[in-house]
Amino acid sequence: MSGGDKLEFEIRPNSAPVSAADRAALLANPGFGRVFTDHMVTIRYAAGKGWYDARVEARAPIPMDPAAAVLHYAQEIFEGMKAYRTASGGVTMFRPYSNAVRFAASAQRMAMPTLPEQTFVDSLRRLIEVDRDWIPEGEDGSLYLRPFMFASEVFLGVRPANEYLYAVIASPVGAYFSGGVKPVTVWVSPDYTRAAPGGTGAAKCGGNYASSLVAQAEAIEHGCDQVVFLDAVERRFVDELGGMNLFFVYDDGTLVTPPLTGTILPGITRESVLTLAAAAGHRVAEHPISFADWQTDAASGRLREVFACGTAAVINPVGTVRSADGEFRVGGGEPGPVTMALRQQLVDIQRGKAADPQNWVYRVL
Ligand SMILES: *Cc1c(COP(=O)(O)O)cnc(C)c1O
Repeated sequence: MSGGDKLEFEIRPNSAPVSAADRAALLANPGFGRVFTDHMVTIRYAAGKGWYDARVEARAPIPMDPAAAVLHYAQEIFEGMKAYRTASGGVTMFRPYSNAVRFAASAQRMAMPTLPEQTFVDSLRRLIEVDRDWIPEGEDGSLYLRPFMFASEVFLGVRPANEYLYAVIASPVGAYFSGGVKPVTVWVSPDYTRAAPGGTGAAKCGGNYASSLVAQAEAIEHGCDQVVFLDAVERRFVDELGGMNLFFVYDDGTLVTPPLTGTILPGITRESVLTLAAAAGHRVAEHPISFADWQTDAASGRLREVFACGTAAVINPVGTVRSADGEFRVGGGEPGPVTMALRQQLVDIQRGKAADPQNWVYRVL
């Protein structure tokens, strides 16, 4: 695809879609990431040729050569976002162009070709159009979209691949919190770090998750829900969770989150929270927070609330912090008022129930 050409999607409808009755049964309790729609998007890339063969087709296994580069050197990136059914029967997404920009940034870091932002957003729209019946009804449900790209070239040499496959799959998801928002307990990993300066921490690549799994398993072994990573240089400052950014709320109403220095994933929820909190009159700051200060300020009561944020859970209070040295609570272990107000405001904007002064909501259908 050259310069300004628009890539056209060929629609090849699934000839054996799930029946309406079976789909309704699947949508009754979809959980997270277990149920998938009838279709997927695929777009191919070859060096010298560009992007080609954009399709919406039946979701199916992807044939892969055992020497496909991704299987050996992990050139892979992804995104995660949601489509919502509105009260008036439409379908919306939240800030999809921000995901498009981040996808391109991740691609650049992994020496992969960048997909034009408009093609990225179009790919989501075309899949949602075809699979719109898979978007759950009701307050809590949404259609989780997973765009991803990997090196498909059949070649074992170590260099950026010359061929890639971009794809989008979609998965209806139910309420993240069944039975209300529950504060999580987090484990501060003494052994593992997630990202070093100059590394891939700011790219949304599968490799970051591969390296975080053993730390997450350690968190579970210690009775925790999620792992907190400290910085790789001094093991002093808080980076983020395995897949969510962290915010700290102080007694004077200030919100602080660690700065984007390249070791943290630039969350779109994070950025939205910074904007919403500032608009609500909070002082907001991006600066490093040491684990020692976290502990001291929680004990003194200066630190009132901590929450994690990301697309899947939106905003999730952190109640208890456990480390090799023991444990402490933040805000008595209960969800705090600032956390819950920001959560409600963000959810209401995403669901079209509150004003959207930033024009974050993108109408798909
Ligand atoms: C995706 C992700 C987040 C959250 O990003 P959102 O855009 O808010 O969904 C945070 N941390 C990591 C490591 C992630 O992969």
